[in-house]
Amino acid sequence: MILLFGTRASETLLTVVAFVCGFCGRDVPQRVVKLVNRFTLFFVPLFPVSTRHFVQCSNCGGTTALSREQADNAMAWAAARR
Ligand SMILES: [Zn+2]
Repeated sequence: MILLFGTRASETLLTVVAFVCGFCGRDVPQRVVKLVNRFTLFFVPLFPVSTRHFVQCSNCGGTTALSREQADNAMAWAAARR
């Protein structure tokens, strides 16, 4: 019997915030992204094995890792400005 297993990453855009990018120095929208790696069995995602958050510049594509708290704060900041 062959057992097919692995992981699959899925990206979720949480919100977009605007601040000066640390890489390119431009004040452009930054995507706050949640990346979840799930264990898969026969290509069916079963459960998450790792979750990380990062912010990605829409100009240069530079990414910076965020803690869960920082991602939550970014979402609260974005919600307060709507
Ligand atoms: Zn940038």
